[in-house]
Amino acid sequence: MALHSHIERVLWGQDQIARRVAELASEITADCGAGDSAHPPRPPPVLVGVATGAFLFLADLVRTIELPISVDFVRAQSYGSGTLSSGAPVLSLDLKIDVKGKHVILVEDIVDTGSTLSCLISHLESKGASSVSVCAFLDKPARRKVHFQLVGEGKFYRGFECPDYFVVGYGMDYAEIYRNLPYIGVLKPEYYE
Ligand code: 5GP
Ligand code: MG
Ligand code: MG
Repeated sequence: MALHSHIERVLWGQDQIARRVAELASEITADCGAGDSAHPPRPPPVLVGVATGAFLFLADLVRTIELPISVDFVRAQSYGSGTLSSGAPVLSLDLKIDVKGKHVILVEDIVDTGSTLSCLISHLESKGASSVSVCAFLDKPARRKVHFQLVGEGKFYRGFECPDYFVVGYGMDYAEIYRNLPYIGVLKPEYYE
């Protein structure tokens, strides 16, 4: 029954995660900050977490960003309970904040085929966001099928490149379990059905 005994291998531990999150937060703080002689100040961004997987990453990231940001959530479902995408994602939770004319940073746990981000970026663009950046903790470029296009001066921030494994922890689930693991790892084969 013990949670940690289900894990075969840890890919990123708690300290490594914390260090990388802090670096991403400083990058965002610098990029979206007060401006300098060459860059006029920009209004603080809206950080939009993609539920449910991004909840821990978003919580850690916003606490280290030193700007008066706003936070909201969207949900797009494409995965069932298994490890393979079911194809076209469907928006099932929309924004509360009006993002018209705002700089939005979409916060994702992991980019796989790219179809979820592509769908969400189009949605934010249709709501009038002036720019859309993506901050994904993990990126699996080997599995990309859809090339997502950032909006305006949007930038792609990513924590780590992920090898082609189905990973769990730090917000990411298998069949809605394991999101509470404080590290990212791979399950023992007997726990994947
Ligand atoms: P995409 O639309 O890019 O194919 O998939 C995006 C979503 O699929 C991610 O936000 C995440 O929720 C889920 N996903 C993709 N790869 C993994 C993985 O290795 N582990 C887990 N737990 N979820 C994943
Ligand atoms: Mg996700
Ligand atoms: Mg999932």
